[in-house]
Amino acid sequence: MMFFPMPQGSKKVNTNDAEVGKLANDTSEQADRLKTLENKFTRLSTLTEALWDILLEKGELDEHLLKARIQQVAQEREDRKTEKLPCRKCGMQNAASKPACIYCGGELDGELNESPFAGL
Ligand SMILES: [Zn+2]
Repeated sequence: MMFFPMPQGSKKVNTNDAEVGKLANDTSEQADRLKTLENKFTRLSTLTEALWDILLEKGELDEHLLKARIQQVAQEREDRKTEKLPCRKCGMQNAASKPACIYCGGELDGELNESPFAGL
């Protein structure tokens, strides 16, 4: 760990009222956003559990199949995150999600295996 000593006579912290007010407002907006996300998450997990219950009652699925499929989906999501494509121009490997080569701007060779759930 690096240690940076404070210089002698360093500046006082500016406690400008407008800045403090803006920070408080930002924090309040973030708290509201977090609460909204928590509510959406709760609704989504409740919906998922209800759908699962219906499928179980219909006798078409079982818990082992669900657990296996959860692992498969998690692995596929991980694979999508790390998928790489070579640049046609310079040959460097780039994240497949990039629109162009980050080194030279060239076109990437191949197509992203885009899932309808990408970004979710
Ligand atoms: Zn390139």
